[in-house]
Amino acid sequence: MAKYIFVTGGVVSSLGKGIASASIGLLLKSRGLKVTLQKLDPYINVDPGTMSPYQHGEVYVTEDGAETDLDLGHYERFTGQTMTKNNNVTAGRIYHTVIMKERRGDYLGATVQVVPHITDEIKRAITQLAAQQQVDVVIVEVGGTVGDIESLPFLEAIRQLRNEVGRGNAINVHLTLVPYIRAADELKTKPTQHSVGKLREIGLQAEILLCRTERPFLESVREKIAQFCNVENRAVIQALDVQDVYEVPLMLSQQGLDDTVLRMLELQCPKEDLAAWRTQVVDRALHPKHRVSIAIVGKYVKLQDAYKSIYEALRHSGLVNDAEVVVKRIDAEQIEQEGAASLLCDVQGVLIPGGFGYRGIEGKLEAITYARKTGKPFLGICLGMQCAVIEIARNLCGLKGANSTEFDSDTPHPVISLLEEQEGVTALGGSMRLGASRFQIHPSTRTHTAYGLLETQERHRHRYEVNNRYRDRLTQAGLVVAGTYEPGNLVEVIELRDHPWFVAGQFHPEFKSRPLEPHPLFRAFVEASLKGSSETQAVSFQVPRRLSRDASVSKTRSRSR
Ligand code: GLN
Repeated sequence: MAKYIFVTGGVVSSLGKGIASASIGLLLKSRGLKVTLQKLDPYINVDPGTMSPYQHGEVYVTEDGAETDLDLGHYERFTGQTMTKNNNVTAGRIYHTVIMKERRGDYLGATVQVVPHITDEIKRAITQLAAQQQVDVVIVEVGGTVGDIESLPFLEAIRQLRNEVGRGNAINVHLTLVPYIRAADELKTKPTQHSVGKLREIGLQAEILLCRTERPFLESVREKIAQFCNVENRAVIQALDVQDVYEVPLMLSQQGLDDTVLRMLELQCPKEDLAAWRTQVVDRALHPKHRVSIAIVGKYVKLQDAYKSIYEALRHSGLVNDAEVVVKRIDAEQIEQEGAASLLCDVQGVLIPGGFGYRGIEGKLEAITYARKTGKPFLGICLGMQCAVIEIARNLCGLKGANSTEFDSDTPHPVISLLEEQEGVTALGGSMRLGASRFQIHPSTRTHTAYGLLETQERHRHRYEVNNRYRDRLTQAGLVVAGTYEPGNLVEVIELRDHPWFVAGQFHPEFKSRPLEPHPLFRAFVEASLKGSSETQAVSFQVPRRLSRDASVSKTRSRSR
């Protein structure tokens, strides 16, 4: 039978519950246990797929094609464990299931209620995951903060489940804040006491407290928290701010968190092995020897979390190269106003991420023109690849007004268009080409050099594709098709023949990058950028302003994201 660790948050949001949960996952894995993590999100959306990145940050796509919370990205990156659609459960999904059952008559005339019907469904989602993935420990993170109305059914389900599995089989880890009050020059424990008290009101006792604090606390503070919150002294862990998130597991392990967890769960395990994490991830992150600057030209650059996995994937590729990757976040609309050269002249590589809608597209195209002409390494992801095709069509094939039908339904040259199976699809949620699909990599391409494989599998999240009617014209102009999904004859990767490193894929490689195993395309991109930093700067560059803006956008079908 699996054991359970429930992670809740108190006092304020944004304390890093996802990182804390993922870190506990890594620590237990390093003790030889098989773990998985689950995120319970109390909102009513069935999944975050329809939410704006401004609301929710990145949508993390799993192998099995679920659009999930970005915390699942932390879980995969820290533990290496593959997440599935069952690793993220929202209140909306639980209610949807219960309502479907009610309509089918499954409840045999009963009045359907939050307790027991919703709570039963929540418990089922948790225990089923443990059974499906056959793990020793499931770490269940509850979204939101204790005291929120929405999280109550989840906490009640946890209370019941703890009761059912009994002592020694489940514990609560509560993440709180111990703020420093400057005027008093003191760390304050009251918010933590209140938050633990709030949990107790609903029948949950926290066994371990992870206390976020800016300053290390004295033993007296630890004792006070332990005494007033009813936890053991050594179960009060200081979660100090660290320079790099990958240090968190080491910091927690130093305070014996894994030992405490194992003792409480009555598990006996070998000593931890975190040597590779320490030397190849943390040490390198803290003491890089080189530095490379990469521009991300996107729409949601002001938001810390919107391109989370891309930032992490770049960092991973920096680690293997002993380099710090400095990301310059550039708003694509700013390029439309100020021009690409002035904003990109000081970077060594250019990356265009995925996205939806027309806003900022012309700026992205200008950035691509710049990277193409200067020979700066370019990586295009999903929408970034579609933009690269449009740019090549307009400026190398002379197809005036070439566009994606997502942005201009009347374009004379729909070089990017809807898949037939997507025409007629009107529902937004879960209706794209989603999840992992296998494709062929063509020999003698940069993509092949990077992967060292002739076939691989990557995760998708899109509706539009390269229009095969234009393939010949594009390849005659210098575009190289480097990867294809043969069954559907779909273009998966493109490159530019006469360029040091210009690669773009229709999928999202960022979701598969791990600190100890950077993604091959990101790695090759960062290496090319590091290498080219001295060589390519010499190439002179002159792109007339507005060169790529030759499309008359009559009707846009952009989704207002
Ligand atoms: N908007 C594009 C499409 O739907 C690209 C999506 C993406 O970048 N994830 O095909």
